Amino acid sequence: MLASLDEAANAAKGKMQKQALHPIAKMDRRHVWHPFTQMRDWFKREPIVIAEGEGAVLRDIRGRSYLDANSSIWTNLHGHNHPALNRAITRQLGKIAHSSSLGFANVPASRLATALVEAAKTEAPRSSKGAAQPKLTKVFFSDDGSTAMEVALKLSFEHARRAGVVRKPRFLSLEGAYHGDTVGAVSLGHIGLFHRAYGGLLFRTESAMSPYCYRCPFNRAKPERADAREYRRCGWECVSSVEKQFNVARKSGRPFSAFAVEPLMQGAAGMIPQPEGWLRRVAAIARDEGAHLIADEVMTGFGRTGIGGARGAALFACQKEGVVPDFLALAKGLTGGYLPMAATLTTAEVFDAFLGEYSEFKTFFHGHSFTGNQLGAAAGLESLALLQRRSSLPQRGRLETAFAQELESLWDLPQVGDVRRVGLVAGVELVKDWRSRRAFDLRQRVGIRVCERMAELGVLTRPIGNVVVLMPPYCTTREQISTMVRALRTAIRDLAPS
Ligand code: PMP
Repeated sequence: MLASLDEAANAAKGKMQKQALHPIAKMDRRHVWHPFTQMRDWFKREPIVIAEGEGAVLRDIRGRSYLDANSSIWTNLHGHNHPALNRAITRQLGKIAHSSSLGFANVPASRLATALVEAAKTEAPRSSKGAAQPKLTKVFFSDDGSTAMEVALKLSFEHARRAGVVRKPRFLSLEGAYHGDTVGAVSLGHIGLFHRAYGGLLFRTESAMSPYCYRCPFNRAKPERADAREYRRCGWECVSSVEKQFNVARKSGRPFSAFAVEPLMQGAAGMIPQPEGWLRRVAAIARDEGAHLIADEVMTGFGRTGIGGARGAALFACQKEGVVPDFLALAKGLTGGYLPMAATLTTAEVFDAFLGEYSEFKTFFHGHSFTGNQLGAAAGLESLALLQRRSSLPQRGRLETAFAQELESLWDLPQVGDVRRVGLVAGVELVKDWRSRRAFDLRQRVGIRVCERMAELGVLTRPIGNVVVLMPPYCTTREQISTMVRALRTAIRDLAPS
């Protein structure tokens, strides 16, 4: 089947090269500056102009169809043009699209806050030192993942100062962490490229060892044809190193006031999954040290990390390990990926630190014009209802099984170093030589070239360096998931030798 797909793709490519630039593509070229894009490269070919979508399929302005293999940059949950989501948004549109949360409440945002608090409830034991797990009962709405994290940062900072925990709050986050692009969120991140660009604008945060089993210096196992977490040989040195860092900071009189993590899987760091038990262990360390735990579930939230384990129905990655953070940042899938909206959940304890007489100016001085947007909130409520339908769990379960089975087929490719999957998200790390884990030089643009070839084969995704991401919408069929993986396989096989 792929042979015909391949032929069709090549024919389409040839035709496209001969065609004059589409008028919309011309407008785009003239005026639109695309995010995270070298615009000189952008000008080398006609961009794919997405015009329509249905389920896991996207259609461009020239009538070509593609599979949306990264859920439109990790946002889409239930597929495009979903009738229930369309209806919910249209119904809300018939009433009002937006009103300000500065001074007024609204119906869908009040309901969504209630539903999110309910969905985030977790049965969790006390920590080893007897500290009770926090309860997430307050919701601050904003616009996207970066602002959700910016809110968590500011609230944590100010709460730590007011509670007298520390004079100068300090933040710890993981190596390679990505928490967004606003200045605070970039400060909390640890991606060298971005820090080189904006170093002068940022405040200092510390980085902790990321549990990257595939490239872990403490993993004594030789590479195998399996997810590195399964065959690793180590003594949880990644956890001890976090513990040590907290200890050293405390003893130096400058303790960490907060620890930010992307639970179960770090996204933009390269789809780096955590071995089972890592999150629970480091969360307990942070808790016992009196530091806030900030969970960035912008990517992992709303069922993305799968239905496995005793807490299979849980929608958030933290819940899978029985961890309750002090801050839970949500965006992307919050509205099913339909509208830009975000939420930061926190505790009554944090909330109470901002209460006082007006004249004390303890107010949280932060907010956005579109905070609590009514259309977004209506979409969010409908998306949650879809996730909580009785049919949703078995459907996601079937997709997860099919996804796991299809990914197995990649192991016989010598350029595949690691295939790591958590639920319905996977990263495939491409290497020069799987036996030595030798990496491709980023300048070879291997990840980009593979994704470009996949696009020719009718499958759209985006790489992170040498890691190709597959993240299907939950409505993806068995056949579609098979096509996604086969396109990746073909694209890797077609890589010119380097
Ligand atoms: N946190 C995580 C874990 C993310 O993956 C992202 C986006 N990729 C963000 C924060 C930032 O979200 P946004 O792009 O919506 O600002």
